[in-house]
Amino acid sequence: MAALSLGVSVMASAQDKTVKKIIEIGQSDNQVMEINHHLSNYIGGRPVGSSALTHAEAWVKDLFESWGLEVMVQEAGEINVGFDRGPWYGRMLSEDGMDLHFGTPAYTAPSRGKQTGNVLIEPHSKREFEKMKGALKGSWVLLDVPSNGMAIDWSDAANEKRAEAMKKNEEIDRQNMEIRRYNMTHRDETPKEMLKYETTTALFYKEMVEAGVAGFIRSGAVPLRVMYDRANCYNITMDNLPKVCDIILDEAQFDIIKKKVLRKDIFQLEFDIRNHFFRGPVKYHNIIGIIRGSKYPNEYVLTGGHLDSYDNGTGAVDDGNGASLNIEVARLLATAGAKPKRSIMICVWTGEEYGLLGSKFFVENKTVPLEKISNYFNRDGGPTMATSVSVPPAMYDDFVEVCKPIMNINPEIPFTVNKRPGVPQPRPTSAGGSDHAYFAMNGVPTISFQETDPKGYNFEYQEIWHTERDIYNKVIPEYMEHSALVTAVVVYGLANLDHMLSREGLYKE
Ligand SMILES: [Zn+2]
Repeated sequence: MAALSLGVSVMASAQDKTVKKIIEIGQSDNQVMEINHHLSNYIGGRPVGSSALTHAEAWVKDLFESWGLEVMVQEAGEINVGFDRGPWYGRMLSEDGMDLHFGTPAYTAPSRGKQTGNVLIEPHSKREFEKMKGALKGSWVLLDVPSNGMAIDWSDAANEKRAEAMKKNEEIDRQNMEIRRYNMTHRDETPKEMLKYETTTALFYKEMVEAGVAGFIRSGAVPLRVMYDRANCYNITMDNLPKVCDIILDEAQFDIIKKKVLRKDIFQLEFDIRNHFFRGPVKYHNIIGIIRGSKYPNEYVLTGGHLDSYDNGTGAVDDGNGASLNIEVARLLATAGAKPKRSIMICVWTGEEYGLLGSKFFVENKTVPLEKISNYFNRDGGPTMATSVSVPPAMYDDFVEVCKPIMNINPEIPFTVNKRPGVPQPRPTSAGGSDHAYFAMNGVPTISFQETDPKGYNFEYQEIWHTERDIYNKVIPEYMEHSALVTAVVVYGLANLDHMLSREGLYKE
């Protein structure tokens, strides 16, 4: 008896020492912002298919190895053609000229060097198209429908839809002529309303491309949201590259330019867009750092964030925030010499923005048995502060135990563990949101920290979400450091319990 209890207390104090060490390093030598700086500024924006993502993967692998972690490099897919973004400039050439504020989605065409051209407003009918088809050659064309951030779909399917809309509009045109005639001849009645035309992005897309336009310009709200060619990027080949520039322009400038066109001012726009393509296939990978469990090596606590991002900003927040934080968690655990009972996996996912590709692959291929995952912690929100966690009643005591050491590491803002009302949530049936989705759909607990802005840094997720503002300056060091430390201690604590977290009352079955 005596020997046994001595053994237990020695082990408990070894754990305490490790936790103390994690906290000490996390407070005196936290590296999360240096990691984020490297990821977002030295490497930069990281879309699937980019050299930057490939470099980032290799860098994370090297880091994990340098800290003595076991590393799993898991190929999650490939894309035919690679895309690297270079710089981009634009100017309005006129007496009231200005620099243009714009972006182009990933996997859209470069300009022909510095490309100068007149500006036209897109045609809305065959008649309008015929009237301007010669002038379209070499012109920049303003489109009616504002941008939602995605590239203009130039697939055959999209062009068929446009053809259908055109047919409908011809019919509407015919009916409107009749309405006009009726109204003219029945002036004593209230006039009949004209029918509305179908609006489609670039109704005459194919015809305009064949006429030789320089590119299309859509209006975009600021901060500009600029993503990628979701519809076509996987079908692009080196002999089927996109040909026409796809520009998303600051809405205020768009309006100025449109007015000038309507006034028939004589002026031009000049764009220099360095969008580069290279032969693939480009493979993309999850990089998973593993600290093998000493007692239950085949049970797991997972924590993660995604490495890929859009590239109009630098992906410092989405999800440089989650990626850098989890990389720092790996470093804190390794540096503190953590030897947990069950295995810890630090999951740096790929391809989240293109459809949760990395985490989906991991789950669907049962990389580890899903029933052996105690919890998956996802971080893919703001660079905010992990201030509490809310768990089903059956997990409550475990979380209280594990969170004890971090409850007061910031005395101003104590960390709290809250009990969810004892009503199980329905298990999600469709993927959305972020990399926790496929875990949750398959019944794995995906408890994550509540993240808040208690000091009032005025952070707004919508401002950075897939926009040009997703840059290093938006990351909040104080919150990042605190949250990395909290995550490391909690993940370690859960991995050290003598049981996995209960799934009772988690999902409604
Ligand atoms: Zn994200």
